[in-house]
Amino acid sequence: MTSLKCSATTCMHNSDHYCCKNVISVDGSTATAKDNTCCGSFDESRGGSFKNSYETPNHNLKIECEATNCVYNDNKLCNADHIDISGSGAKHADDTECATFRMR
Ligand code: SF4
Ligand code: SF4
Repeated sequence: MTSLKCSATTCMHNSDHYCCKNVISVDGSTATAKDNTCCGSFDESRGGSFKNSYETPNHNLKIECEATNCVYNDNKLCNADHIDISGSGAKHADDTECATFRMR
């Protein structure tokens, strides 16, 4: 399990910079830099009143990840102790990235 903080507060799964999902999927199968990655589980919040009403933040998540060029990728699972997803103001998944990506 990996602790995660996420600045994509426009995502409906985001609660106070934490993610409410149990599992996320990071994309970037050909990534050679962090901006080639993104959180494939991003869902844009549609206006808010129901946002996270049934969800609570998870501080430790399972992170499936396609970015196999990253040093933390172990058989398509992330083995980092902590990662940061960035995406302030994101409208789409492509506006996010795994800021912790590090090329092998
Ligand atoms: S962008 Fe990804 S990590 Fe961030 S809150 Fe949404 S689903 Fe969770
Ligand atoms: S740190 Fe690397 S392996 Fe972990 S989610 Fe980010 S890109 Fe994937």
